[in-house]
Amino acid sequence: MARYVFITGGVVSSLGKGLASAALGALLQARGFSVRLRKLDPYLNVDPGTMSPFEHGEVFVTDDGAETDLDLGHYERFTGVPARKTDSVSSGRIYTNVLEKERRGDYLGKTIQVIPHVTNEIKDFIEIGDDEVDFMLCEIGGTVGDIEGLPFFEAIRQFAQERPRGQCIFMHLTLLPYLAASGELKTKPTQHSVKELRSIGLQPDVLVCRSEQPIPEKERAKIALFCNVRPEAVIPAYDLNSIYEAPLAYHRVGLDQAVLDAFQIAPAPRPDLTVWEDVQDRITNTDGEVNIAIVGKYIQLEDAYKSIKEALIHGGMANRVKVNVDWVDSEVFDKKDAAPYLEGYHAILVPGGFGERGTEGKIKAAQFARERKVPYLGICLGMQMAVIEAARNMAGIDDAGSEEFDHESGKKRFTPVVYHLKEWVQGNYTVKRKTSDDKGGTMRLGAYDATLKAGSKVAQIYGGTAIEERHRHRYEVDIKYRDKLESCGLAFSGMSPDGRLPEIVEWQDHPWFIGVQFHPELKSKPFAPHPLFKDFVRAAVETSRLV
Ligand code: GLN
Repeated sequence: MARYVFITGGVVSSLGKGLASAALGALLQARGFSVRLRKLDPYLNVDPGTMSPFEHGEVFVTDDGAETDLDLGHYERFTGVPARKTDSVSSGRIYTNVLEKERRGDYLGKTIQVIPHVTNEIKDFIEIGDDEVDFMLCEIGGTVGDIEGLPFFEAIRQFAQERPRGQCIFMHLTLLPYLAASGELKTKPTQHSVKELRSIGLQPDVLVCRSEQPIPEKERAKIALFCNVRPEAVIPAYDLNSIYEAPLAYHRVGLDQAVLDAFQIAPAPRPDLTVWEDVQDRITNTDGEVNIAIVGKYIQLEDAYKSIKEALIHGGMANRVKVNVDWVDSEVFDKKDAAPYLEGYHAILVPGGFGERGTEGKIKAAQFARERKVPYLGICLGMQMAVIEAARNMAGIDDAGSEEFDHESGKKRFTPVVYHLKEWVQGNYTVKRKTSDDKGGTMRLGAYDATLKAGSKVAQIYGGTAIEERHRHRYEVDIKYRDKLESCGLAFSGMSPDGRLPEIVEWQDHPWFIGVQFHPELKSKPFAPHPLFKDFVRAAVETSRLV
């Protein structure tokens, strides 16, 4: 039976609950325990798949094809444990399950209520895979006091009550605001937040207090007294230069010790932190820097490309360079020369995206990178745009485009070099889709195998010819253009195992130009940078030496 840590937040949102949870997971692993992290989100969307990345940040895709919250990305990057469909749930999903059961008659005509039906559904979710790990870390989205969050708080209260004593603990994150005028850290919002928690029956065992200033011992004792928490379990969380310093920083201030104490695990196994010490060393001791442009649409909110940004940092760590990222809006040069916007960068990355807006600019970015021999990494839509660029400018298909754009505009304007795939093979199954299917869940989602061409650049980078990567898209490069494009020098160097779906393209007479239909960024970790990002940054370093 797993032990459970429930992580909640108060005072304000965006305190870094996901990061604290992920860092705690890494520290428990460093002490020899197995962990799984889970996110329970109070919003009513059934999953984040259809939420705008402007509003909600990136959609993180798991191996088993779930579209989840970006916090699951943090969890994976810190623990290396691949997240699953059953590690992320929202109120929308919980209510959908309850209502489906009600329609099926599973409740035998009973009146369906938040307590017990919704709370039972949440509790059932929490304990999936209970016997697989030593610790289950469950983060509740939002802040205490939110109306939507109440069923979740009630469910974890019941859950802890029903388990043997000492099996569950509560960790609460708050903020200590600093008043410059009086030179004081204020503890009152934290006191109120804990009061709010206690009013719904939850007593925190560990309090993590975000603060810009050192927390004096006196204030720590005061928080402990007023919040009914042991002084050693009041953990300061200061701002960090890099999120990857979090495991070591939290260890120094005693977070993992406080958690083990709360479970009365004594003596606590000694931690082996060598992995995180190496990570810290690679962030701190760099030699040089590179400037990389991410040419995309969702640049207003950097969180929309969270995993890409992190994977580039990992690539920098592997090469011991600092990676400076500039977000370049492709729409700006849709109808203009892209050169003035892209000159001077050591590499260009065109990420995934949906819809036609800004795509002409992305096509121009691909052309610029090809012609100027600047390293280019095209991810998903970024690969599709590179293929369209090749079709238009090298293979003479002037009106090459993606069916996605014709679907959007309702007009037939393009030769569909990228077309809507409606049937494909996943393992032993054939998956079928219709254009009219629901927006949620009509994509090729999750992990798929690909076979790389021996001797290709990607085979060299991966160090093998069999890979597995995560997908999230509806459209595909049409294989029928392969011969024509290959004769122009664009090698189809990665294919689905049945040879039907192009997975990777690369320009052969280019130092580094690779387009991938999948999302390699989702699998990169600070302690195991993804090979494509590692080599892409290496290529950028080489470019930087030439100028
Ligand atoms: N919009 C494209 C598709 O659906 C690309 C998706 C993506 O980049 N994730 O195929």
